[in-house]
Amino acid sequence: EVPLMKVEDVVRTYRARKRGTFNTYSNVQAVRGVTLDIMPCENFGIVGESGCGKSTLTRLLAWLEVPDNGSIVLNGTSLGTLSPRELIRTRSEFQLLLQDPYNALPPRTTVGRMIEESLLIRGNVTRADLRSRVMAAMAEVGLAAELYDQLPNALSTGERQRISIARALILDPKLLILDETLSALDQREQSRLIDLFSKLQEKNDLTYVFISHDLAMVRRVCTRIAVMYLGEMVEIADNRELFFDPQHPYTKALLSAAPTLEEKPFNPADFLLEGEPPSPIDIPAGCSFASRCPKAFGRCRLETPKLVEHTPGRFAACHLLDGEEAQAAA
Ligand code: SF4
Ligand code: MG
Repeated sequence: EVPLMKVEDVVRTYRARKRGTFNTYSNVQAVRGVTLDIMPCENFGIVGESGCGKSTLTRLLAWLEVPDNGSIVLNGTSLGTLSPRELIRTRSEFQLLLQDPYNALPPRTTVGRMIEESLLIRGNVTRADLRSRVMAAMAEVGLAAELYDQLPNALSTGERQRISIARALILDPKLLILDETLSALDQREQSRLIDLFSKLQEKNDLTYVFISHDLAMVRRVCTRIAVMYLGEMVEIADNRELFFDPQHPYTKALLSAAPTLEEKPFNPADFLLEGEPPSPIDIPAGCSFASRCPKAFGRCRLETPKLVEHTPGRFAACHLLDGEEAQAAA
């Protein structure tokens, strides 16, 4: 099977002014070589603590930021090779939904106009067609037709979220990137949106990438999950494997720290997540998790573990997982 999106060794470093200075800069290594295959019609999850580079990776996947190195290939086309005009066309195939549609939606534009704008910018459509396409998109996401002429401030968070989904959907995308999209919603509205996402997936062959810190949500929704730490993926596995047989100490620590996941396949006390991650300005040598890892041993501070496919489809980056030497140390 051919991946819908191929992320290959993507790197993003940016310059940030040093605290308390005017003209001294440091390099923030936000994303440090991420490789992922996102398959058609899957729900791919990316989890990690805040500051792990998720936001930067989100902007890279949505091509709102361009990687310094590496490539993102959508349906066989490397985004970096497209002309501005081709990029506009290709952009309708992958859409980003933001966490807080309240801030993302212009306050003085009616619901109908907002959805319509998205089509006018990207698509070719006649005026006569416009209203009926907007109405169809509204119906598809469960927005009542009478909302067409309303302003967004009168609406609930769930309704605003549906407006952004309609805005994306009207362009007939293949891939939706959801940045904490479900986290601001209460349980009921979250469930309704999950149902909507799955209905839309069936109907339109959609692929989703959920980027979130919310492990319970990701467990409920995602088929495959990647765990991110300090700009790198440390584990990638199927839902069941990740939650019932996690391999990387950081994954275990994250699961231990999640209050909403009751049964854990290991003793959570052995994997307490303490302290803060190192700064992405000053990344230590060796395994970047070593400063917080309860299982760290000598080799960890010297050598960076590679993300290795240990069994088909299961990737992890930890010295403990590769062979006799590591087992002896453990
Ligand atoms: Fe812990 Fe070492 Fe594995 Fe890193 S390589 S996660 S420090 S055991
Ligand atoms: Mg972030």
